[in-house]
Amino acid sequence: MARKRTKERKRTKDKTRKPGRPKGTGSSGNPPAVTTAEAVRCPACGSTQRSKYHGTVERMIAGTQAGRPHTHIIWRRCACLDCGRHRVEKTYENRPAGG
Ligand SMILES: [Zn+2]
Repeated sequence: MARKRTKERKRTKDKTRKPGRPKGTGSSGNPPAVTTAEAVRCPACGSTQRSKYHGTVERMIAGTQAGRPHTHIIWRRCACLDCGRHRVEKTYENRPAGG
């Protein structure tokens, strides 16, 4: 007489669950998240030392950049303090109306 296999494998661990708050549920009462952005480097020497921004130009240009919406594009001019190379740092900002 053959033995009946009644054993069932049960997996209680759900490997697809991620720890922490689900994306996009941020909120009130919680401290703001701290993010870091890498400093812009000089294209010529790689230095992050730069002069103060000047000749800042701001334009209301809506669109998307790298999948993110933006309402303004800002160009800031500065120079590398190490090699003197001038550059323009272009940034995209999203400033929704009424915000
Ligand atoms: Zn430089």
